[in-house]
Amino acid sequence: MENSRSDFSEWYNEIIELAELTDKRYPIKGMNVWLPYGFSLMRNIDEMIRGKFYGDDFREVMFPALISRGMFEIEFEHIKGFEKELFWVTKGGKESLEDDLAMRPTSEAAMYPMFKLWIRDHVDLPMKIFQIVQVWRYETKHTRPFIRIRDIHFIECHTAHSTYEDAEKQMEIYRNEWNFFTDSLCLPYMEVQRPEWDKFPGAIYTRAFDTIMPSGRTIQIGTIHQYGQNFSKNYDVKYADLDGNAQYVHQTTFGMSERLVAHIISIHGDDKGLVLPPAVAPYQVVIVPIPGSAQNLKSYVDEIAASLGNSGIRFTIDYRENYTPGYKYNHWEMKGVPLRFEIGDREVKNRTVTVAFRTGRKKETIQFTQLENVKNMLHDLSMELKEKAHILLKEALSGKVLGEPEDALRTPILCQDEKCARQLEEKFSLTLMGHIMNYGKEGKCEVCGKDGQTALFSRPY
Ligand SMILES: [Zn+2]
Repeated sequence: MENSRSDFSEWYNEIIELAELTDKRYPIKGMNVWLPYGFSLMRNIDEMIRGKFYGDDFREVMFPALISRGMFEIEFEHIKGFEKELFWVTKGGKESLEDDLAMRPTSEAAMYPMFKLWIRDHVDLPMKIFQIVQVWRYETKHTRPFIRIRDIHFIECHTAHSTYEDAEKQMEIYRNEWNFFTDSLCLPYMEVQRPEWDKFPGAIYTRAFDTIMPSGRTIQIGTIHQYGQNFSKNYDVKYADLDGNAQYVHQTTFGMSERLVAHIISIHGDDKGLVLPPAVAPYQVVIVPIPGSAQNLKSYVDEIAASLGNSGIRFTIDYRENYTPGYKYNHWEMKGVPLRFEIGDREVKNRTVTVAFRTGRKKETIQFTQLENVKNMLHDLSMELKEKAHILLKEALSGKVLGEPEDALRTPILCQDEKCARQLEEKFSLTLMGHIMNYGKEGKCEVCGKDGQTALFSRPY
């Protein structure tokens, strides 16, 4: 790589291209092509998330991408919130459509008219569905692959409940799921209560999962929303309670996107390129055979491959001719493969495997019979990634400047008053993201002295 990670922006642009994650030359601004390696990473993330949702009694759906104007344009703040971001389909062939169709920017307006038809009775609740689809938003700001784009890979959960308390329990389940996801991806995060004026349009409250980038700026990588009855009242989604009375349902949502990929790239990467968490790396192991005098190199490599296959390890073997082992080492390091197996004469003769760790830990030589330890090695490597990433967040929270000094986040004690928030925004030239729930403490507001708690001011992506 030409750029070091300390020049974060250049480094980021270079690595996504070098590692063949996405091709941003597609001739529409903010719409990029997922390349096989990048898409394999995204798919592994999707599968991990899908498995967890299935285990938590969600059912998967697939809604149409288009939403009629009528479904969208009910008088509701949710719609106003998205007004400027919609792509509209206005023609079918050469004819103008009678009813313009919006490309979904998120799926509330598509799903809730159907919820109205599906939900009749209290026994239909809770209803828990999710889908993994593309959504489209007309971004006018500077676009950046995986971070700010117009064609978004979106993972969205929608639930309906009979009571607010039950919906609150679902919010707690989301938090546990989020913990599981970020633990697998080795990502640190802050749980931030968005201020009233910056919550999701139509929500009662929004909790965002914000995290740190090596530039010192923050990025939102997940959100959960409590809707209460705000949406059900507008979309007329009701159920009959035990006494047969019609009641509006209480709703929640959970949203994530390929920003998870952006954060994986950014937080774990180094000057050599990507470092991918084993849970989702397209290849967890690359085997590099080093041709020498040993006759049975290929059959020994085949034995190793069979053993890895039996353990369910994702791996590839780099048999390319005309490339030196050194070139191959650099190539797969750049691609972020967690473990590299070097197999040469010595390994063949002693029936060993030399293992190099992408995190830079000292190489280890293990016996063929110890190959089942690979899972433990991947686990150890995940722990290393997690620890390193969490240290970065904690340093940023304790005032360390990671990138440009003016981008460094600030965490003063703040009350709930918008005036105090605005005053500090102006003072810091940063945006208030909200109060930090998982790293914060209580105290007196830095501006007015009333009760408050730790707030996050940052320059978000
Ligand atoms: Zn205050």
